[in-house]
Amino acid sequence: MSITRVAKVETMAHNRRSSTQYALQGKQCERCRNQSTPLWRNGPRAARELCNACGIKWGNERRREIREKRRQGN
Ligand SMILES: [Zn+2]
Repeated sequence: MSITRVAKVETMAHNRRSSTQYALQGKQCERCRNQSTPLWRNGPRAARELCNACGIKWGNERRREIREKRRQGN
């Protein structure tokens, strides 16, 4: 009984993953226009508008800005 249950859950997880990839097809990065990326990341204007590389870069820039602003404020 329990083995059947585990198998069912795994199939559901696979289905969900593949349907997510289909939903992202035709999308492109707001910065480099890259259309294929292992992971879409949040950008300054919208969620998941940047490719993996640009999302990481933007995140680092933003973090640095916040840190500098805090430093200036003090
Ligand atoms: Zn990009």
